[in-house]
Amino acid sequence: MPSARPARTGRRPGRLAGLLTVVLLLALAAWTVLGLQPPDPSPADAPAGEFSAERAFVSVERIAAEVHVAGSPESADVVDGLVETLTELGLDTRVQTAVGARAGGAGETRMARVQNVVGVLPGTDPTGRLYLMAHHDSAEAGPGAADDAAGVAALLESVRALTAGPALRNDVVVVLTDAEEACLCGAEAFAASHPLAGGGVVLNFEARGTSGPPIMFETSRGNAGLAAAFAEAAEHPVASSFAVEVYRALPNDTDFSVLLDDGDFTGMNTAFIDGAAGYHSPQDTPDRLSRATLQALGDNALALTRALGGSDLTTLAEPGAEDATYFPLPGQLVQYPGAWVWPLAGAALVAVAGLVLALRARGISSLRRTAGGALLALVPLVLAPSAAQGLWALLVAVRPGYASMLDPWRPGWFRLAAVAVVLTVVLLWYALLRRRVGPAPLAAGALVWLAGGAAVLAAVAPGGSYLAAWPALVGALTGIVAALAPAGPVRVLAALLTGAAAVVVLAPTAALFFPALGLSQALAPSVVVVLAGLALLPAAELLFPDPDERSRLAAAAVPVTALVGAAFCALTGLSVDRFDAAHPVPSRLAYLLDTDRGEARWVSTETTPGEWTDRFVDGPGSLGSDYPYLAGREVQTGPAEVAELSAPEVTVVSDDIVGGRREITVRITPRRDDVRLVDLELTVDGGTVVRGRIGGRAVPEDAVGEDRLRVTFHALPADGLQAGFTVEGDGPVRLRATDASDGLSGLPGFEPRPDGVDVAGTHGADLLLVTAVTELG
Ligand SMILES: [Zn+2]
Repeated sequence: MPSARPARTGRRPGRLAGLLTVVLLLALAAWTVLGLQPPDPSPADAPAGEFSAERAFVSVERIAAEVHVAGSPESADVVDGLVETLTELGLDTRVQTAVGARAGGAGETRMARVQNVVGVLPGTDPTGRLYLMAHHDSAEAGPGAADDAAGVAALLESVRALTAGPALRNDVVVVLTDAEEACLCGAEAFAASHPLAGGGVVLNFEARGTSGPPIMFETSRGNAGLAAAFAEAAEHPVASSFAVEVYRALPNDTDFSVLLDDGDFTGMNTAFIDGAAGYHSPQDTPDRLSRATLQALGDNALALTRALGGSDLTTLAEPGAEDATYFPLPGQLVQYPGAWVWPLAGAALVAVAGLVLALRARGISSLRRTAGGALLALVPLVLAPSAAQGLWALLVAVRPGYASMLDPWRPGWFRLAAVAVVLTVVLLWYALLRRRVGPAPLAAGALVWLAGGAAVLAAVAPGGSYLAAWPALVGALTGIVAALAPAGPVRVLAALLTGAAAVVVLAPTAALFFPALGLSQALAPSVVVVLAGLALLPAAELLFPDPDERSRLAAAAVPVTALVGAAFCALTGLSVDRFDAAHPVPSRLAYLLDTDRGEARWVSTETTPGEWTDRFVDGPGSLGSDYPYLAGREVQTGPAEVAELSAPEVTVVSDDIVGGRREITVRITPRRDDVRLVDLELTVDGGTVVRGRIGGRAVPEDAVGEDRLRVTFHALPADGLQAGFTVEGDGPVRLRATDASDGLSGLPGFEPRPDGVDVAGTHGADLLLVTAVTELG
């Protein structure tokens, strides 16, 4: 046997104590995770000054009765209803009709004609403006009960509760935006041209799922003041400064991003994200929306509005000096200044160094051995998240319908399985090495990574440093105590304390992070679970037999138990989460008709087409030109029968040379029903598009200046879209005009989806595109 076997580990506690410790820690994990869950909805007869989800739900049902995508007649009805409701509540309410414009992906510009509903609740002695924002349009495939009728309804009910009490000090501006789904164009138009958009503090309410706790996941920069206000006022303060860091690194946008880009606003963005399978889909119906979620959303909206509406906004409306660190504990939010991040990471590093030296001084582990433990800790750090990702690959192999889903319909058991898989890898690694390397060097070596991680995060994503700093700090301090006083009870207490610190800090973040990324991206949240697993090694050690016992069976029992747990959770998940009409396999299919060529094609953005989609497509293909939602993507295509449909009519209104430049004005008129958008691609051979003006608004400067200009315009005026272009150069000018509507039924060769297969919740999932090129000479 290796001579450097741990020399002085003291009297070993009994395994019953170990079992009790682990059960306590598991219970603590469950308690912290359940503590995030939203409350019971308040009944319709709740006191007038309170928020009631049941009252708000009436608005959800009205707004989300049907799909109400920007520009549709259903959307116009929703706008009328919102104006009526806010006016009845006593707000001076107007509709802002304007054209919004945003740079989109793949070099395109997106524009939309929008109808924002803006109402004002004047303050008694305003120090600034508080903006309450949500979007009233839905995505094209579903009625948008969660996204974002819930946000709008939460604001309406909050405003009702406010008007039942004394007026607030500050002005409250309710901004219900249009065309968020199309291009964030409502928010853009508001920020760009509304007289009330002078700046202030914004609270935006969004959804990326149908249930779960509303999470305050995004803030303006320098959020210390706002985070403190949130921690103090919010009734269900679920937020993590790590989410802020993650979101800043992702390309995702909401209306809130538009206002932040504008520069005059500070604020906080809240969304609920669980139940992501229903997001943007036909299943985003009122009956699927969690009323508990609605209650939490409204409780927070009302409480924050009262707090911020009554406080001095002059400092909060300006970016603060620093970002705060904050994370949830059951029922509250821990928050402390960003200035503490480095000292904490430093303290963790010093404490871990202290532990390493204490282990050496007590003859428990040499420096070399601890370094070996640290090196070996890389194995679970890399392998365990990969194993969790592998679990998803396995689930997709068993059930191919999961292939294009972010998260399954009922992901709960699968999430537990992913956690169990991570713990299995950690425990297996530990079981294989603990006799050879020793429990102490392995646990201390793992803490080296946690402390190092805390420092790295402090440098690159300070809001996330807490995840590693606290477990490392507490783990090292308790480890030092256990090394210096190696009595059985001390070891149990040390393991319990270090485990508790890891669980309290990491379990809620993991529980928020899994739904945020979905099981299809289980790798990243699993890293959080590995960190917890490594910090829990001293507790796990109590379950193992004495290293001298040489009982392989007893040692194997620990990882095997975790493995059995993983298998049980995965199999239960598979039996609980079956596809049916209410929980369908999502599918994406578009139909593209080129009337110039008399050619039609089926197109799908599913990377591995599902059974139904596969009838239409026969392999990867390219489309030859860029189309909305399909541009720049690998697509699957297949031949289709040509439908009797016409491309939009393009008529030249005027064509003049002014100051050596050609100015062309055209009118684009769809020749079929329910056209939701028109995509225009203007090309000038060997020349430049210098200016564009579409639907009465200039195309943003940074989109012009090339030989090609591409603009997708949503929510067209009833009499067609007028577009003016200024071009330089003598080369021929060509305009490709494509119009798009939603729904494929009635097309020749189309076979309806069977029960259990439905339109996916991605934009453009059931798109019908008709395109033609007009030579403008
Ligand atoms: Zn939304």
